[in-house]
Amino acid sequence: MIVRCYGARGSVPTSGNEFSKYGGNTTCMQIESNEKDIIVVDAGSGIRPLGEELNTRNIETIHLFFTHYHLDHIIGFPFFKPLFNKKIKIKIYGPRFLGKSLRHILDNFFIPPYFPINPYDICAGENLEYINIDEDEDYNIDNFKITTIRLNHPNGGLGYRFVEKNSSFVFLTDNELDHKHFNDFDYNKYVEFSKNADLLIHDSEYSDEEYKFTKGWGHTTFKSAFEFAKKCKVKRFGLFHHNQKRSDNDLEEIVNNMKDNIRQSEMEMECFAPSQNYEIEL
Ligand SMILES: [Zn+2]
Ligand SMILES: [Zn+2]
Repeated sequence: MIVRCYGARGSVPTSGNEFSKYGGNTTCMQIESNEKDIIVVDAGSGIRPLGEELNTRNIETIHLFFTHYHLDHIIGFPFFKPLFNKKIKIKIYGPRFLGKSLRHILDNFFIPPYFPINPYDICAGENLEYINIDEDEDYNIDNFKITTIRLNHPNGGLGYRFVEKNSSFVFLTDNELDHKHFNDFDYNKYVEFSKNADLLIHDSEYSDEEYKFTKGWGHTTFKSAFEFAKKCKVKRFGLFHHNQKRSDNDLEEIVNNMKDNIRQSEMEMECFAPSQNYEIEL
C-alpha cells in the first residue's frame, strides 16, 4: 500500500512561512492498495487538494472514513470535488455519536446558516452511501482488512488499523494516552492494537510544558507518543496533529531529538513528522 498525507496540522488550518515545509492543512490521509483501491481518512482542509487529484483519475469508488467529527476533521468535506462527480461512487464510513448516525451528523452541520447548502443536495446523493461503523470491529473493504478501536478523546471517535497482505498502517490521531476519557480506558489495548505496525501515525500535539495546561483536551505529548511507539515496536513512527503554533524548525528539532534517542538506545525505528506532501510505500 501507499500512504499519503494531505494534511497533518491539528485543530485549525495555519499558513505562513514558518509552516511552509510541514504545511497548514488539517487531517487528511490517503491509502492506496496495490490494486489501486482508494481509502481516504478524514476530511480536514487537506481533502480539497486530494479531491482535485482524484477527480482527474479514472476511479470508480472512494472509501472515505471519518475518525470523528471535530471541525478540523470535517471542514474540507463540502470542498471535496468527487462528491459532485456522479462517475465516482463515494462510500462514507464513520462512528455514531450519542446514537446519531454519521449521515445525520454531517447533514446537520453542512446546512444554513453554517454552510449555504448541503453537499448531499447538490449531487442529489446519487453517488453517496453512508455506513455507520463501530469500535472493536473488523471490516473487509476491497483488498484491505480494517480494524477499529475507540479513540480516547472528548466525544470519542475511531482509530484504524489498515492491513493489506503483510503491510500494516495504524492511524491514531486525536488520541490522548495520559488521561482517561472513558471508564474502561486501557493503555495496553492501544499497544496491542498498534503492535509491530509497519507505520504508526499517532497524535503528538504537545510539549510537556504545554500539557500542564492542556491535559484532558484529547491529545498526547510528543514524548509520550514516542514512548508508546517504542513499546509497540513499530517500524516507523510519525508524529501527527501538529500544534497550530509548531513551526517547521520546532518540528525538525523534535524529530532530531527523537532520532538521537533512537541512536543511543540502539533501537531500530524510523521517526519523522509527516508533511502534507508525505508519501511512503509499505
Ligand atoms: Zn483534531
Ligand atoms: Zn478531535
